[in-house]
Formats: sequence, C-alpha cells, structure tokens
Amino acid sequence: MIIVITNQKGGVGKTTTAINLSAACAGAGKRVLLIDLDPQSNSSLSFVDPENVNGSAYELFTETSRPFADFVYPTALDKLKIVPAKINLAKLEAKLVGDFDAIYRLRDRINQVNDDYDLIFIDTPPTLGLITVNALVAANYFMVPIQSSYFAMEGTDDLLETVEKVRSRPNPDLSLLGVLVTLVDHRTTLSRDVESYIRNTFGKKTFKTVITRSVRLEEAPAHRKSIFQFAPRSSGAAEYQQLSKEVLKRV
Ligand code: ADP
Ligand code: MG
Repeated sequence: MIIVITNQKGGVGKTTTAINLSAACAGAGKRVLLIDLDPQSNSSLSFVDPENVNGSAYELFTETSRPFADFVYPTALDKLKIVPAKINLAKLEAKLVGDFDAIYRLRDRINQVNDDYDLIFIDTPPTLGLITVNALVAANYFMVPIQSSYFAMEGTDDLLETVEKVRSRPNPDLSLLGVLVTLVDHRTTLSRDVESYIRNTFGKKTFKTVITRSVRLEEAPAHRKSIFQFAPRSSGAAEYQQLSKEVLKRV
C-alpha cells in the first residue's frame, strides 16, 4: 500500500504526519518505507544524518540503473526504512521536464521493492509539480492534512483537480484515504469552526482523530526523533498512535 501525504500548502503538518505515522505503523510491526520527496528534507533529518547520505531521492529518480537499495537507509526503528531527500531534489523537476516517462519514474522504481514493505509513505513538497504528480501516479491512496486555521481550505480545489487529472489517465485507482485536521487548538472558536467545516465538507473521509497543536510535536524533529521516542506519553504520541489505527483499518 502506497500512501502519499499531500497538500500544496506549506506548514500544514505533512512532514510531521509523515514522520510520526510512519513511526507508529513501524511500531505496530508493519514493514514501512518512508520516501521523502521534499527538498527541505525535514522528514529525512528526523531519521538520518545527512553526512551519511550518498544516494538520495534525486538519484532514485535519475540514476535508474542503480539498485533501489542504494537509496534506502535504516532508522533507529527496526521496521522503518527511509529514502532521504537532499537539497539537490529541488533541481529534479527541471531535469525531468521533457522526458517521455517523467511522471512514471517513481511508480517504476517502487515496483522494484513493493513486496519488501507493507506500507510506503511519501512526503511531498508544497507544490503540485512533477514531484507531487509522480507520487500521485505511484500511489494507491492520498491523504490530506488540513490545518484548522483561517484559509484552511485554500488550495484544496487545485489539489483535487490535479488528483482528478491523475485519475483520468495514469492512475484511475488513486483514492482519498482521508483528510486529517491538524494544528487544532480546542480553546479557540475559530479552530472548532474550521474543524466542523472540514467535517461537513469531507464527511466520513475526515479522520476521527485530530492532531492538536503541541510543543512536543514541534520539538521532536530538533532531537532527530519521532514523537514516540521523544515524548511517548505526550498527547501528540497518543494522537498519532490513534491515527495509525484508523489508517491501518482503512487500507
Ligand atoms: P508541512 O510539511 O506541511 O510544511 P510541517 O509538518 O513541517 O508541515 O509543520 C510545519 C511546522 O509546524 C513545523 O515547524 C512543525 O514542527 C510544526 N507542527 C506541525 N504539526 C504540529 C503540531 N501538531 N503542533 C505543533 N507544531 C506542529
Ligand atoms: Mg514538509
């Protein structure tokens, strides 16, 4: 099962979700691969030291005769592996443009290792360019984190339009796994209103679990840890644990 975490808005919790959902599923005994496709490489930094990275996502796309294993790195978690991103990924779209198989690169790559993993999560950049399209073409599901703040839904129409285009030809089986309400602050009326608005819009597709705003979730990446290693008793750990159960039930 290949799940893309996407929303072309930045700062909505894609990376935080990619890190902690991957960790939760690996903790539940699933063999998990996290592919970081954001040139900012924040997902990667939680799990690997960039000093030790030779082959990364850029080369996964461009050096197609090298084995997939060259780009896979172990993490502190037994069942979790990662394909890290480096800043050179920012040059990838320019390099792919014009290649006849540009949107199929990732799908072809993942076909080489699909049987080695129960779940593959893909973290995406805050754009709807060729990288995100590659992820949508390769995936079974996409999930959309939406921040419970003013302008929360801004951009979701464009995202859903891109998804429809991908569905119409290259990947008719792509489906919405769910919408995740993030950065919730139950103390504010705005946050509560936005959450109900999202639930009204996406109905049952909205995950029951919401991710509340928490300092622990914000701090964990600086310690290069998932929330489960950094603050296992925090609300963030409980929420991502709960989310992983919902995700595993839906796939
Ligand atoms: P994206 O990948 O969509 O750009 P991130 O996951 O990187 O979003 O989150 C943006 C910022 O907000 C980061 O600094 C992150 O640590 C912080 N953040 C994300 N989720 C939470 C949360 N639930 N509580 C507090 N801070 C959060
Ligand atoms: Mg990110």
